[in-house]
Amino acid sequence: MRFSKMFVPTRKEDPADAEVVSHKLLIRGGYMRMVSRGIYTFLPLGWRSVRKIEQIIREEMDAAGALEVHMPMVQPKELWVESGRWSQYGPELQRLRDRKDSEFCLGPTHEEVITDLVRGELSSYKQLPINLYQIQTKYRDETRPRFGLMRGREFVMKDAYSFDLDAEGALKSYDIMFEAYGKICDRLGFEYRAVEADTGNIGGSRSHEFQVLADTGEDEIASCPSCSYAANVEKAEIQIGHAERDDEVLLSTAETVNTPNVGTIEEVSAFLKRDASEFVKTLLFMADKEPLAVLVRGDHHANAIKVKQMLTAAGKTVEELRLAGDAEVVELTGAPVGFAGPVGLDVPVFADYAVQTMTNFVVGANERDTHTTGVNWGRDFEVEAFADLRLAEAGDACGRCGTTFDFVRGIEVGHVFYLGTKYSDSMNAKVLDENGREVSMEMGCYGIGVTRMLAAVVEQNHDDDGIVWPMAIAPYHAIILPLQTQNEAVVAAAEKIYAELVDAGVEVILDDRDLRAGNKFKDADLIGIPLRITVGGRGLDEGIVEYKPRGADSFEKIAVDAVVARTIADVSAGLAH
Ligand code: ATP
Ligand code: MG
Repeated sequence: MRFSKMFVPTRKEDPADAEVVSHKLLIRGGYMRMVSRGIYTFLPLGWRSVRKIEQIIREEMDAAGALEVHMPMVQPKELWVESGRWSQYGPELQRLRDRKDSEFCLGPTHEEVITDLVRGELSSYKQLPINLYQIQTKYRDETRPRFGLMRGREFVMKDAYSFDLDAEGALKSYDIMFEAYGKICDRLGFEYRAVEADTGNIGGSRSHEFQVLADTGEDEIASCPSCSYAANVEKAEIQIGHAERDDEVLLSTAETVNTPNVGTIEEVSAFLKRDASEFVKTLLFMADKEPLAVLVRGDHHANAIKVKQMLTAAGKTVEELRLAGDAEVVELTGAPVGFAGPVGLDVPVFADYAVQTMTNFVVGANERDTHTTGVNWGRDFEVEAFADLRLAEAGDACGRCGTTFDFVRGIEVGHVFYLGTKYSDSMNAKVLDENGREVSMEMGCYGIGVTRMLAAVVEQNHDDDGIVWPMAIAPYHAIILPLQTQNEAVVAAAEKIYAELVDAGVEVILDDRDLRAGNKFKDADLIGIPLRITVGGRGLDEGIVEYKPRGADSFEKIAVDAVVARTIADVSAGLAH
């Protein structure tokens, strides 16, 4: 492609709203433009790379036996009412009405549509297993669209859905997808971890997120350096230490102290000259309509996902678990927010394991500007149950083997989820088994954020000058820079190399623009084309061109007639990588 004929509007300045490097570079490199918050147009270079990612995903999905379909983006309300999600899904679900006042939504995901399709077409176990996928635009009205393609409102997703006769089959389908996701991440050159993830309300399920490691990632991962366990901190199981309280310690008497104008743990701890770890924080949650209190050590953080898991494990069905609002806190404790405590509190109290070994601690007194010191559980208040209810943090040990966790940040590019019969039960998607009995199909769903992957590649592959694409998804493999467009010998040599590379199937740009060398170098580096061939008058006199892989520190001098072969070899090696 001749640069003069391309549409690559590069920019010198970072966009004002961009916080992460992928957002900055994809705008500056002329890969995309914002249309509205979280909604982008892909320009030719950007779309080429997106399509290359799609193609890699498609090849691996096909190789894993999945079948490609294409479902509509607009979905009727009725299907969502059947699954129960019309009321459960929050404002992220974009609802709309047509001219006849029928209600629809823009698909944030496609479990309903696919389950409706499959229940209408499949009737026998003989037709299973089946795995259907699509690569399609999704819409979610995210609370905080940000970071460019990382958290958009409109984005491209690959979503797959497997249907099996039984759980054993479904877990096999899950493993096949897990393996395919690994291959996709490998082909994109990602440094990544597959980590265990929360499964929400679905009992007995299994779920992994594919996390690309990057400091800008929104997720935090606890990763064990010695066993293979890695999990989203939301879920990471912490090793339970010595769980017996030392009752030999003299239990002091509880005492109420005045703590005026101090609200946060930091402030109270400075005021009372007691370390934050000598405090117990009391958090009030609402499990649907039922209040409960969760106690964690002052320097720890409560983890709502673990609280919900604990309630579910105890046999309670909880649709929504949330922190109590300010008014609810006042109603439950009789005190303003910041002074809740477990003593005399009339709601069930659950405590994190770390609280179990604590004695003579400080808590809120359920009264404005007041705390109680010397408090002990069992004596001063009852604990319903102790459990792992907090976020893993630096210094915590792996729940599986006891080694201290490493913490890294990640970008969730993919998610595999064993669903069981959640949708097939609610939507009545059944087949007849070998004995002629009707059974709900066992499902799995598997998502990949295609456009988020593009951003993740840039997060992991860039330098101060721009993007450094891996060959597999670079919009073009090579770029030729003739430095003097008035010099006939230069132009002729550049054209010859260009023609030979095009013939050999190399995707190559010829920067035929009449620009200063400096500008051409800047653009080539910014857009990040993997191989650069610079043709200049002085070099040609010696019979050489300058050859530079994008990530290399310096260029090599290569004989003019050897550069085509070298480029072809490097492209193949890069693609095979
Ligand atoms: P997140 O926790 O990041 O919101 P999710 O759990 O909602 O993700 P899924 O519903 O599992 O995501 O969607 C499958 C994949 O789609 C995710 O792994 C992610 O790569 C991608 N994805 C989800 N939300 C967005 C978004 N707002 N913008 C871009 N990609 C997204
Ligand atoms: Mg989400």
